[in-house]
Amino acid sequence: MKLSELKNNAKGVITKVLGRGAFRKRIIEMGFVKGKEIKVIKNAPLQDPIEYEIMGYAVSLRKSEAQLIEIITLSEAKSFIQIDYNSVITDDILKTTAKEKGKIIDIVLVGNPNSGKTTLFNYASGAKERVGNYAGVTIGAKTAKFKQNGYKFNIIDLPGTYSISAYSPEELYVRNYILNKSPDIVINVVDASNLERNLFLTTQLIDMDIKVVIALNMYDELSATGAKFDYVSLSEMLGIPIVPTISSKGKGIKELFNKIIEVYEDEDPIVRHIHINYGKSIEKVIDLIQDEIYKNKGITDKVSSRFITLKLLEKDKDINEIITKCDNYDKITELSKKEIKSLEKEYREDSETIIADAKYGFISGALKETFKLGRYNKDKKTEMIDNFITHKIWGFPIFIFFMWIMFQATFTLGAYPMNWIDSIVKYIGDTVSSYMHEGILKDMLIDGVIGGVGGVIIFLPNILILFFFISLMEDSGYMARAAFIMDKIMHKIGLHGKSFIPLLMGFGCNVPAIMATRTLENKNDRILTMLINPFMSCSARLPIYLLLAAAFFPNNPGTILFLIYVTGITLAALIAILFKKTLFKTKEAPFIMEIPPYRYPTLRNTIIHMWNKSAQYLKKMGGIILVASIFIWVLGYYPQNIEYSNDYDLLIDQADADFDKKIVQVAPYDNTQVSLLIEEKEKVISNLQLLKESERQEKSYIGKMGHFIEPVIKPLGFDWKMGISLLTGLAAKEIVVSSMGVLYQADSDADKTYGSLIKKLQEQTYLSGPDKGQKVFSPLVAFGFMIFVLVYFPCVAVVVAIKKESNGWKWAGFTMLYTTVLAWIISFLIYQIGSILI
Ligand code: GDP
Ligand code: MG
Repeated sequence: MKLSELKNNAKGVITKVLGRGAFRKRIIEMGFVKGKEIKVIKNAPLQDPIEYEIMGYAVSLRKSEAQLIEIITLSEAKSFIQIDYNSVITDDILKTTAKEKGKIIDIVLVGNPNSGKTTLFNYASGAKERVGNYAGVTIGAKTAKFKQNGYKFNIIDLPGTYSISAYSPEELYVRNYILNKSPDIVINVVDASNLERNLFLTTQLIDMDIKVVIALNMYDELSATGAKFDYVSLSEMLGIPIVPTISSKGKGIKELFNKIIEVYEDEDPIVRHIHINYGKSIEKVIDLIQDEIYKNKGITDKVSSRFITLKLLEKDKDINEIITKCDNYDKITELSKKEIKSLEKEYREDSETIIADAKYGFISGALKETFKLGRYNKDKKTEMIDNFITHKIWGFPIFIFFMWIMFQATFTLGAYPMNWIDSIVKYIGDTVSSYMHEGILKDMLIDGVIGGVGGVIIFLPNILILFFFISLMEDSGYMARAAFIMDKIMHKIGLHGKSFIPLLMGFGCNVPAIMATRTLENKNDRILTMLINPFMSCSARLPIYLLLAAAFFPNNPGTILFLIYVTGITLAALIAILFKKTLFKTKEAPFIMEIPPYRYPTLRNTIIHMWNKSAQYLKKMGGIILVASIFIWVLGYYPQNIEYSNDYDLLIDQADADFDKKIVQVAPYDNTQVSLLIEEKEKVISNLQLLKESERQEKSYIGKMGHFIEPVIKPLGFDWKMGISLLTGLAAKEIVVSSMGVLYQADSDADKTYGSLIKKLQEQTYLSGPDKGQKVFSPLVAFGFMIFVLVYFPCVAVVVAIKKESNGWKWAGFTMLYTTVLAWIISFLIYQIGSILI
């Protein structure tokens, strides 16, 4: 707890002193150090300052100061060490507990996008977060815990930023995180292959006057160029320890955290606070304003007054939040306005630029003394590959080719493990069927669970392969190139290359893709990208295509798959153009697109990525898909007492008897005739059984629901079972397949495998109505269905994501509506026009 929360006469032991600079120094000199016991003499609710007793004498602290001291009390110690409540806690135990508690270090990772923060985070903590070779992969803060040398680390991975000004939501997020959560140590991850730009952020951290340790990451790339970098000297100049790391290989991480422990314990000799010299005139202005701000002790104990001053000079709007709390707010703003004016007059330059220039001056000065470029420039290699891959003419076909390979491999390579899983599912089905007694439970297990979940689980390998390729493209840096190639085309549809990355991510899952739109600066671009994202066919829709392509396009399933995806992309483009012309008529702002260097994707990252996806998939399997399958099954199983139009049981018995009679007549003379008759008998009976089962299903609850919606989907060539499957797909797209599994394989056959489902789909005929006797599915219907699945209502999770990212239901509701209407229109055209042509 905080020292300020301690009640009168209560005791505690100090575990941590937060705050910074002069405050920290003074407070430590007064004896407020880890492990010391402290007692409250007087703490009235509204009283400020508060009186304390420490080391035998009395001191008074302001409330704001006491808030920066963490302590542990007896009761907290009890729950911390988890001893049972009856045993006595001696002062000794309290002190050791305090010491233990003081060994928890809160750390945040800060650095440019792509500097390797998440890789470092994963390696250090054994976590499995997503990495990628382009900006904007880490969204929001991710936390993990781990131990080293008796210390516990709470480590937080923040989004990448080039700066901590208040330009983008990420920058503000990172800055507020550091200011409000006051972490013990900030790890500044610096990309060693791009020092100048990366150190810019470092200069801002220096201004903030907080405890920083630099992880000089990608040290392998720096070494590879043959560059000489005297980082030891640089660390002495900056007053910040620098530890070289290669986080993709886990090198230097241990050393990094050992250094962090040292810095945390104030044992590192290098650590000191330096001032970046902004030049005479600016420094004078800084002094003037800083003096005013410094009068507000309660604020400057937490946030450096120099930092606030600099932000004021940079005309940073969000720093106002801090300034408004100052007693002399008016004076400060007036003064800074006046001084900015005179500075800008003197330099003939925007005040923000003046400060940024000074920072870059500082960096190039520091690097001049410590850094020598290598002879071998690895950018040559990158350049050579880029000349080819992002070529004006070749670039595009190469990109298409890569995509085609991806979908082809997803289908062909995926087929092998698919068969294995299929046989396992069959084995389980057979076992259950032979060992269980007849009854509802058995029906539910075989028809509901195995038929539904089993039908979806076999697509796991395909999804892994798809993610393997996406991960490869992201990690290697090709994704950023693809965005670059696409930039021109994206401009044609009113977006730019940067929107392409969220779109490409959509092939994996639309939810993170929609979150990734945050990297776009312009709100209209963000919303437009979200609106067309659902057309990027996500991996959950893949099983539906795989199933139908295998059943109705057995000769070229890979091409059909490719065609579906291309349709989605084309549709996205057309809709974007339409919306840009009608809903979002603004012009877009120019921006710079990052082209990171090529990197070898690491096996570790790729496997982490694939593991994450499969875990998610399996979780869905055991959760929503299982529940939905059972639900669909229940709706199809009841009511049980149905009035049939024919007495099927009687008909079956009659047929049985009739055939038996015939067989007996011919039996003595003609063996071949007998076997023919037996065959015919089986056919007739199974047909009767099928008729009975279909009628039962049609009269079940789900059948009634299906027939209710049938008029709407009839013009698309869909039967009611397809309609129901589509409805269930609103929750998650995989459920479409599991519903089809349950609905189309509802007969008593125990064989619920993929192969048998394909056969059932191929053989499915209308048993009543005007189309009686005709096949339900034709390649045309299957294709229309796949396109419908591609276009209609994205799943609930996506709608919620759009609502969250666009701050309201307006665009989320719009997405639900327009996609579904569009899907209906397109499938209608496909079916109606196709029926005429074929
Ligand atoms: P973040 O945006 O800062 O979180 O960066 P990521 O952790 O996503 O990493 C970006 C890319 O750099 C990934 O492709 C990593 O595999 C790669 N990477 C990370 N650390 C190193 C390193 O020390 N050396 C090399 N060569 N590559 C690295
Ligand atoms: Mg990251």
